[in-house]
Amino acid sequence: MIIFLDLPEAQVERVDVAEEITLTLRTTSPTAPCPSCGTQSSQIQSRYTRTLRDLPSGGRPIRLIMHVRRFFCKKRTCAQKIFAERLPALCRPHAQRTKQLQEALRQLGFRVGGQAGADAASELSVSGSRDTILRLVRQSQPSARAEPHVIGLDDWAWKRRLRYGTLICDLELGLPIDLLADRSVETVSAWLKMHPSIDTISRDGSSQYASAMKKGAPQARQVSDRWHLVKNLAACVSVQLAQSLAELRRAEQVKARSEKKARRQAGEERRPAQTRAVQHAQQARQAERTARYEHIMALQKQGVNSAEIAFQLGVTQRTIQRWIATETIPYSRPRKQRSRLIDPYKIYLLKRWHQGCRKGAQLERALRAKGYKGSGRALSRSLETLEPTGSSVRKRGSASATSLPNPLLALSAQQATWLFFRRSEDLKTEEQETLRQVRQASPHLETAYQLVEAFLHMVRERTGEQLDAWLGTVQASHLEAFQTFVTGVQQDKDAVFAALTLSWNNGPLEGNVNRLKLIKRSMYGRAEIDLLKPRVLYQSKKNRDRKSKRKNHQAQQVDRLKKLKSMKSNTNFQHTTTGISKVA
Ligand SMILES: [Zn+2]
Repeated sequence: MIIFLDLPEAQVERVDVAEEITLTLRTTSPTAPCPSCGTQSSQIQSRYTRTLRDLPSGGRPIRLIMHVRRFFCKKRTCAQKIFAERLPALCRPHAQRTKQLQEALRQLGFRVGGQAGADAASELSVSGSRDTILRLVRQSQPSARAEPHVIGLDDWAWKRRLRYGTLICDLELGLPIDLLADRSVETVSAWLKMHPSIDTISRDGSSQYASAMKKGAPQARQVSDRWHLVKNLAACVSVQLAQSLAELRRAEQVKARSEKKARRQAGEERRPAQTRAVQHAQQARQAERTARYEHIMALQKQGVNSAEIAFQLGVTQRTIQRWIATETIPYSRPRKQRSRLIDPYKIYLLKRWHQGCRKGAQLERALRAKGYKGSGRALSRSLETLEPTGSSVRKRGSASATSLPNPLLALSAQQATWLFFRRSEDLKTEEQETLRQVRQASPHLETAYQLVEAFLHMVRERTGEQLDAWLGTVQASHLEAFQTFVTGVQQDKDAVFAALTLSWNNGPLEGNVNRLKLIKRSMYGRAEIDLLKPRVLYQSKKNRDRKSKRKNHQAQQVDRLKKLKSMKSNTNFQHTTTGISKVA
């Protein structure tokens, strides 16, 4: 069965069903309005045929052949003497597709993009090429909506480190409302000026956005995004941890070295084979490099430039730049062994060894006779490596296993930071144990932990009134790594205070930035703003309804909170807690 659309102004003259269904239609209304002046006219000038594509029926594409008319405009003063009658219920002027087919193609374009949309259309016998779909997406008009009051701003990368755009969300609705091609002060402030209804703006710590807001929306209260605040704090703490862990490693190495020396002097144990010593030294070097690398990355995250990092760490700027560019921990290669005086005699030594001659003095005499000029110690060291890898080595291995190495030596600064920032009740038993050890490792680390805990408490419980006290504690602690963070907070204090007091944050933006990235990738990076914007801003009607329902619910909650807050001064009030996973 084939069901066609209901068209009051047209009459079906003929239906041909083959691979494709062809409908021949004729318009029936006696008069038509002039599109310029609106005067009705019944005076026909000529007839012509218009072909339109429509949605398929029963898996067959539909083609409409429309017999339409041209009319004379009766109004003498009208500039349009002749006009073609229009079919507003069916299609737009000059279109080759019906409205419902255009809408179907546009939906495909919004959801899956040009090429994928065209492929899907072809599978469904829907007529529409990639270019048609993209054109329809570009032409789409954003649906009218109420002016926003609370918005969030975040940047997203067109190309990392080179070009950034700005995504703007209505935080009350949790929906993206605009996409700007860059993140410059001019562009953002111009946009803000067009939306004077905005009273609250959530943003990251970027000074660019802050000054754009001052310029474009001086009336609005700025809220620093909590997630970014926590992220910045984590970068600072990571520096502190990298420094402390590196110190710990150095101390451990010194300790191990002196212990070994003491053992050797006591004659309890022979020197381990040279290869083991080399391996050990290499591991130590690698551990130091890792710590230093983490330190560099943490500094870089804070925006410290490479020249300054080089100065702070006493490394050349070129090394810093190379490490940052490779983005991996540089691997320390085993050092090349120097050639030794004993080397030419090694084969001879091995031969004598296997013959059963194992007395140092005897072998030394033989070697000297052959012209060996090195020391007796070098010879005995070389003999140690020839020791059978039997019982003695294995015993040594088990001995080192009983004196457990400090587990903190294997911990990276990043792992340690993670332990600091997660809720302690979310940590596994062994993670809690590691955290305890980190805190005990040095008084600096314990202080850092206390400061982080106090800050996260403000973030989770919105107790911004404690901010001044917290800043004071940091100053008093003299922890250098926290200074960058404190300076940042001081410069942006009102916004930080708002962040630690109000419920707004850029949470809804994160999801939308991820969606944007997905859309951008699906277009193979070829998308320009004219195409990216309609796709990012597109929301199905269902989603919009859901979000506006949520907004109403939130509004009720905010009212309730306001009431509670007014009671707060004289009661022991607890804010609703938000998990750091949601906040940060
Ligand atoms: Zn007219």
